Amino acid sequence: MKQRIDILGCPVDVLTMAMAVERISKCIAQGQPCQVVTANAEILYAAQSDPGLFLVLHDAALVTADGMGVLLAARILGQSLPERVAGVDLVHNLAQQGAKAGWRFYLLGAKPEVLRAAQERLEMLYPGLQIVGSHHGYFAPEENDAIVENIRVSQPEILLVAMGAPKQDKWLHDHLSKTGAIVGIGVGGTFDILAGTVRRAPLWMQRLGLEWLFRLWQQPSRWRRTMALPRFIWAVFCQRLRS
Ligand code: UDP
Repeated sequence: MKQRIDILGCPVDVLTMAMAVERISKCIAQGQPCQVVTANAEILYAAQSDPGLFLVLHDAALVTADGMGVLLAARILGQSLPERVAGVDLVHNLAQQGAKAGWRFYLLGAKPEVLRAAQERLEMLYPGLQIVGSHHGYFAPEENDAIVENIRVSQPEILLVAMGAPKQDKWLHDHLSKTGAIVGIGVGGTFDILAGTVRRAPLWMQRLGLEWLFRLWQQPSRWRRTMALPRFIWAVFCQRLRS
């Protein structure tokens, strides 16, 4: 039974990582197209003033809670989300299962050298994993058709798109059905983490909900984006007061 909660008018699925992987695996088995958004506070806040992104979230088959900000928001609203289902963790779990099940992956996004290193790392970690194609994420709109065609002839079951939110999620919304891939997931900075160009926060920081602070320390240019977090929490408080 599909269970969703409403955060600032956007749906978020009540899921553990295991449930997310099971749902995706069911979509693959049934050949049922499925866009997955790994939504953090920044995305849910941005959707308030971006009707295109709002629509993407509503049309997505699965919206996972990527970040402690989203878990906290659920708590403020008197709801509960069982755990974080972050893009990078989802990719590891799907690659592990996919290597056994024979799922074919296509990687789209990041800089060419980052993409290459991310692919090598996935293939090293998950022997047997089939990565049937890849393309970097810096292309002009007029190249879209060629990229879609390249994905289509590669026949992947899972298309991972790492071009940052909301670009990746809007790209998938517009193009997933044309690519022929069954599942399309926006995975943000996952390829950078796999390639080792961006480090993940230590576990204790992740558990305390401080991953955003670690990212800010590593990439200070993100400060403006990080400001979305307090604004998001404030907006959620207002939602709570209204309800
Ligand atoms: N990126 C891309 N094409 C673009 C802009 C960004 O492929 O036009 C890549 C960028 O190289 C990086 C990822 O998208 O690998 C964005 O990561 P970020 O951490 O900003 O994503 P977030 O998880 O914050 O959405």
